[in-house]
Amino acid sequence: MEQKKEKKDSTIKKLLSHGGKHSKFTYIGMALSGVSAIVVLFTIVYVWVTAKEALLAYPNISFEQLAPNAILALSAAIVGALIYIAALMCTHISAFRIARNLRTEGMKHLMKLPLGYFDGAGSGKLRRTLSENIGDTEGFLAHQLPDMVGAYVTPIAVIVMLFVFDWRLGLLSFVGIIACFLPYAMMMGNSRDNMELYMKALDAMNNEAVEYVRGVPVIKTFGGSIFSFKKFNDTIDEYKKRVSLICQGYRLPMILFQALLASLSFFMIYGGIFMLPKAESTLELLVDLVFYILFLPTCNTMIMKVMWMSEATGKAELSYQAVKQILDAKPLSYPEITQTPTSFDIEASGVTFQYPNGKVNAVENVSFTAKQGQTIAFVGESGGGKSTIVSLIASFFDVAEGSIKIGGIDIRNISEADMMKHISFVFQNTKLYKGSLLDNIREGNPNATTEEVERALQQARCEDIVAKMPNGLNTKVGTGGVFLSGGETQRIAIARAILKDSPIILLDEATAFTDPENEHEIQLAMASLAKDKTVILIAHRLSTVKNADCIHVIGGGHIIESGTHEDLMAQNGEYAEMFQEYTAAFDWKKLAERNQGVMA
Ligand code: ADP
Repeated sequence: MEQKKEKKDSTIKKLLSHGGKHSKFTYIGMALSGVSAIVVLFTIVYVWVTAKEALLAYPNISFEQLAPNAILALSAAIVGALIYIAALMCTHISAFRIARNLRTEGMKHLMKLPLGYFDGAGSGKLRRTLSENIGDTEGFLAHQLPDMVGAYVTPIAVIVMLFVFDWRLGLLSFVGIIACFLPYAMMMGNSRDNMELYMKALDAMNNEAVEYVRGVPVIKTFGGSIFSFKKFNDTIDEYKKRVSLICQGYRLPMILFQALLASLSFFMIYGGIFMLPKAESTLELLVDLVFYILFLPTCNTMIMKVMWMSEATGKAELSYQAVKQILDAKPLSYPEITQTPTSFDIEASGVTFQYPNGKVNAVENVSFTAKQGQTIAFVGESGGGKSTIVSLIASFFDVAEGSIKIGGIDIRNISEADMMKHISFVFQNTKLYKGSLLDNIREGNPNATTEEVERALQQARCEDIVAKMPNGLNTKVGTGGVFLSGGETQRIAIARAILKDSPIILLDEATAFTDPENEHEIQLAMASLAKDKTVILIAHRLSTVKNADCIHVIGGGHIIESGTHEDLMAQNGEYAEMFQEYTAAFDWKKLAERNQGVMA
């Protein structure tokens, strides 16, 4: 219990640590909320005093006699409400500032994280954390925290008040309240753990939902159902289980609580009857008893609020933890003193790397050299480690062992800006962002003139794409504009890379775009891009690697063979076998195409 309280306090403190000097408004707001709760209680006190006066004076009730206390009751209500509004204004100032700071810190930190982080984190989860989780902490600080102070202060003040007015009835009420809450509190002991699991299940389901929506085209194409996405289905089942567990957990305690609450009046009436013979004034005791009976259920509802508040704190804690996970994610190692490469040989020695969530090394003890201007190709089985090697050269992740050098400088000592300046990548899953075609290409070099863009488009063989656009280069792509095919998108990405004109090119050859026209154009565009550059190529078609200066065959995270096409064919090893299979498949394809031609 102690430990949990400490954790709760520290979460509030940690949240406030993001508010700078504005955090003090939270404390002021909390204090004002406590004051407002006490002031509002005076409304009840004066209503009671007025009612008591009226009942005791009955039937000679005079307005003049009742008016002062009635006015005090009304004033207490108005002043209490005004103080509460001031409290909320203070907590909102601080909550908005903290949410803004958390979002800014989160976004800034994301910019420092290795690109590889985004593969593992899931964009759905990141969006939810930065938007919804931070929104939750804002709601907590702005509303629930001041209400929580009120919720704690009110029952304490009420119990004191009940004792002050009539200690015997006060004692009776106190016993009644404890009797109502005891079973509830005992049974709900583990609700916090359940809540934590519920929040995790909700998070996992939201994350998978985004991946599911992304995969809808695939599901539709293959006539699948939601069951094609087993992970999503599993997260829905887990969520269902957690919701049902939470509801079941509440069932008995809530029934008991409500039943005991309903019986409280009986308990008080019996207690009151027991006290009657000893009362100095029967009428006064009866009037007090009526008030206690009417007031007590309200008091219980106030205490109930405290219970809900602890859940709200739990939710805020989990939301903050999600934000902290982003803020604590390890950025790439940043050198204190950076060096700028002036030549562009790439040299990898003894490179070993394991993905954060991986169980084995994705690449192990990989060494190779690509001299400036050379083309080095990686071929081999799927999952062998080709993309990982290229990701490491691009600094998506830090290598665990060994080093990668560009122009003799370890890439860990090259600034991110220099890395991005000197390297272009064209990967298979290239994306164009919403904007004009010109903006998309100019991303490669924002200062390029229209002529330079046009030249790049010409070299990337994109003229036919531009020609069919309704507004030429100014045509908007993406939602609300035109959509380009996968092959066309890749050619535009190549144009972008040509415009960037960086000395190192990382290429992942397209396999998805099999229409022969696009494929041919892409090959020619890639050849233009690769001219006079240091090129690292992941090749899926062996025909494209024949002219590479060196081909590395990758398998199981290791380089298993290296050499030129001729060397490797002469070795008659893995590559030669792959090449023979490839040529056989290619001949078969040609034969099938020829047959199709004859039949047509
Ligand atoms: P290739 O490009 O040769 O197909 P990869 O480099 O993509 O191979 O993958 C090498 C190994 O690393 C595989 O076992 C793959 O499952 C694993 N891997 C790739 N990406 C990730 C990732 N983001 N997280 C964990 N493991 C990964």
